[in-house]
Amino acid sequence: MQVIQSIEDMRAQVRQWQAAGRTIGCVPTMGALHQGHLSLVDLAKAQTDVTVLTLFVNPTQFGPNEDFAKYPRDEAGDLEICRRRGVDVVFAPTNEAIYPKGYSTYLNEEAVSEGLEGGARPGHFRGVCTVLLLLFNIVQPAVAVFGEKDAQQLAVIRKMTRDLRLPVEIVPGPTIREPDGLAMSSRNRNLNPHQRKEAALLYQSLQAGKKLVDSGIVQVERIMAEVHHVLGRSNRLRVNYVSIVDPDTFRPLKRIEPGQSLICVAAWLEQVRLIDNLRV
Ligand code: AMP
Repeated sequence: MQVIQSIEDMRAQVRQWQAAGRTIGCVPTMGALHQGHLSLVDLAKAQTDVTVLTLFVNPTQFGPNEDFAKYPRDEAGDLEICRRRGVDVVFAPTNEAIYPKGYSTYLNEEAVSEGLEGGARPGHFRGVCTVLLLLFNIVQPAVAVFGEKDAQQLAVIRKMTRDLRLPVEIVPGPTIREPDGLAMSSRNRNLNPHQRKEAALLYQSLQAGKKLVDSGIVQVERIMAEVHHVLGRSNRLRVNYVSIVDPDTFRPLKRIEPGQSLICVAAWLEQVRLIDNLRV
């Protein structure tokens, strides 16, 4: 496995692969890797000849009061995990390489990005879209894999690649969970043991919502009330939003469309912000 830091070296490797007719799969990450990330690596490997995992904690997708400085980082551990999983190249550029002094070009998707994470984290998707366009331009993947854990991000990226006619196929991967249902996340590393236990309430709240839907209830207010009710079991949890949306447009639904509705939650567990979602 190669670790590449410079954009020029990455481009040279890409040219070599392209000359040899090899297709490139890309898994963009911010590191502190877990089984969720690795499941995306497996999906990329199954569809393309070579796999590039990008490792870059992207400063432009964090707001001024967010956890950029506290975001978990473990480059040595990440490289070892990638080596064992059969990643071909880890592309780990520096901040200065991606955003040199004077950098001033940003990309806005203006519909799918509007609500939920976009509302709670102004500028977040502008940073996400910008860095992904940069990474796609450098790595030139035929396929890029993204987790359903970040469902709105997946929908925004799909919209952006469609709008800009980017020659990359966006492939989704299912959310990988801990045994108690907690969606794996790099940020889970910042939970203390008490918080870790209560973090499972997010998934439990989604399951409670799904149960109502499965019993035939279609009024979103009733389902949202049930989700809030379960989240209310912890006094450490502060709900950021509960929303039921169309999984492609992320517009809030007035009533459940069976199989085409996504319950989304975001909550603070003291200083750690967690998100999760479930299709119903
Ligand atoms: P991140 O490093 O958090 O930016 O995530 C990198 C990619 O991994 C994104 O496409 C995420 O949606 C995906 N991902 C994160 N957590 C999970 C999970 N538990 N299961 C599946 N994919 C995930």
